[in-house]
Amino acid sequence: MRDEIGALSYRIKALNFSGSITLKSYLDFDVHNEDSNYDEQFWDSLSEGQHKHISYVSAQTKKTQFQVCAAMRNMSCVNNNEPQWAASSDATKMKVAEQNTFAVQEGDEVCLEKLVAITSSMNYEASELTNAAAELVQTAATVGYNQLREEHRQAWVQKWETSDIVIEGDEEAQQGIRFNIFHLNQTFTGVDDRLNIGPKGFTGEKYGGSTYWDTEAYCLPFYLATADPKVGKNLVLYRYKQLDKAIENAQKLGFTDGAALYPMVTMNGEECHNEWEITFEEIHRNAAIAYGVFNYIRHTNDWEYLAEGGAEVLIAIARFWAQRVNWSNDKQRYVMLGVTGPNEYENNVNNNWYTNRMAAWTLEYTMSAVQWLEDNAPQDAERIFEKISFQRTKEMDKWRDIVLKMYYPYNEQLSVFMQQDGFMDKEQLNAIDLSHDERPINQHWSWDRILRSIFIKQADVLQGLYFLNHLYDNATVKRNFDFYEPKTVHESSLSPCVHAILAAQIDYPEKAYEMYLRTSRLDIDDYNREVHEGLHITSMAGTWMSVVQGFGGMKIIKEKGGNHNLHFTPKMPEQWTRVSFSILWRGTTLKVHMTRTNTEVEHMGGGPVNFYINGTPCDLQPGKKVTVAI
Ligand code: BGC
Repeated sequence: MRDEIGALSYRIKALNFSGSITLKSYLDFDVHNEDSNYDEQFWDSLSEGQHKHISYVSAQTKKTQFQVCAAMRNMSCVNNNEPQWAASSDATKMKVAEQNTFAVQEGDEVCLEKLVAITSSMNYEASELTNAAAELVQTAATVGYNQLREEHRQAWVQKWETSDIVIEGDEEAQQGIRFNIFHLNQTFTGVDDRLNIGPKGFTGEKYGGSTYWDTEAYCLPFYLATADPKVGKNLVLYRYKQLDKAIENAQKLGFTDGAALYPMVTMNGEECHNEWEITFEEIHRNAAIAYGVFNYIRHTNDWEYLAEGGAEVLIAIARFWAQRVNWSNDKQRYVMLGVTGPNEYENNVNNNWYTNRMAAWTLEYTMSAVQWLEDNAPQDAERIFEKISFQRTKEMDKWRDIVLKMYYPYNEQLSVFMQQDGFMDKEQLNAIDLSHDERPINQHWSWDRILRSIFIKQADVLQGLYFLNHLYDNATVKRNFDFYEPKTVHESSLSPCVHAILAAQIDYPEKAYEMYLRTSRLDIDDYNREVHEGLHITSMAGTWMSVVQGFGGMKIIKEKGGNHNLHFTPKMPEQWTRVSFSILWRGTTLKVHMTRTNTEVEHMGGGPVNFYINGTPCDLQPGKKVTVAI
């Protein structure tokens, strides 16, 4: 894949016009930020110029000092005549331009083919950047636009083969999911473990292209099931590579002994967010990173990753939780005070159920990971424990005690988990009590009013029930869903997908469908009136989850012997006649076709595989298919 090349072919037809047309082609690094720090520029200029028909400009980002060079080569012509170089060029600070003027008659067509190569100091010596970009663009010109386009098309064909979802009988739903899948593949190829997925990808400045908990919580399942196994691995390795910085980050806040707090927002491992209620308090992100390791291993069966970095990440996060809780004499329980849960419409709360629950889960999972290492890779266990001075018995005794005695706010009367200690003190309203003019509340209300209100920005308790789905029965999910769903305003893009999945699971088909349309068409229909800020790339992976995990009911379930098995519990929306999706599962590709009466799974490549459809065990040999009536 030529991922350093951009190519554009542009044609202008003079329909009812004769005269001259000037085409001017630019490279412009002079970009201003519209999202924040409005007057600041992103780039410091390094050089710009033109050499042998190649114009180039290079610059350096102000804070991270990444150097980037872009080199372009333009060819233009009239009516497919011999293409010409640009007639003139000019270079000013951070900007180069080339232009050609053509005399045209009515009916003539002017064309421009623009090729650009972009090189970055992440991949080249800074002194080599310009030469490398010039060479790349020269090679691209030799290959030619048509061939480049064909290579590009082929690469996309391959991506669609494993990631497409076909929905029959519902054009809106089909358009929504394809729009989402296209953008996910467009944003992240996963070939480099130093790169990650910004919530807006490259479509808007908001969130600065940085990495959030979104990656582990929403994106990882999509890439695990649709892309080369290296992609999922690179995503988990990304966090391992930033572990030292996460430990440093925790140290700055007073944590010790190798405890790690991953940043809420990061580019190179350092915290990039600047609001205390997020950086100090939205610590639940740490649990999502541990959950990412769990999800990666249960999908791929790559337990060896524990020795390659996973165990170190888990232990460092477990150490953080063990220091972050405190013992409450009053409650005779461990509590966690002063946190912000996933629902950012309340800050500085005590005992956010999600955070407490995910912290305890991390401790339990880390203990099982330690045990796995000791049983299966004792030398690695020894090496790692020594490296990080892990006092196995002492530390794990403490973790066990916390797991046993963690406090979880619970309302006996309603039999639901409480989002946090003070949740029932709030005025008990539902989103339906808000007028249309007040929505979204984050564009109409003061923060003070939002923070005191009951309205939930995004799945919080329900997020926990989604992650830990294997530990809760449907009756529990239903009670909590009935309580929290009406209070949720879904003003985070990350919310509707979780509600869609749970609603499908507990047989609320209409709600599941409503939430599916909301997540899949969030940007197309601009539900939250903010699409001008960019697309919601990370929540697009949530849309994929709503189809595959929600309507397809795909789950990876741990059986008694310890093996993880693949299950499908299909819940087809009545608006659809048929839906098909593919899953890469431990070296095998499966294609699932669901109708309202049966589910068929086709073996598309790889070795023999076992899975379950509605609890019925299926053993599938290469090239075969199995159909189960629903
Ligand atoms: C959400 C966060 C999320 C961030 C980036 C915020 O609005 O509340 O949970 O990580 O957007 O998507």
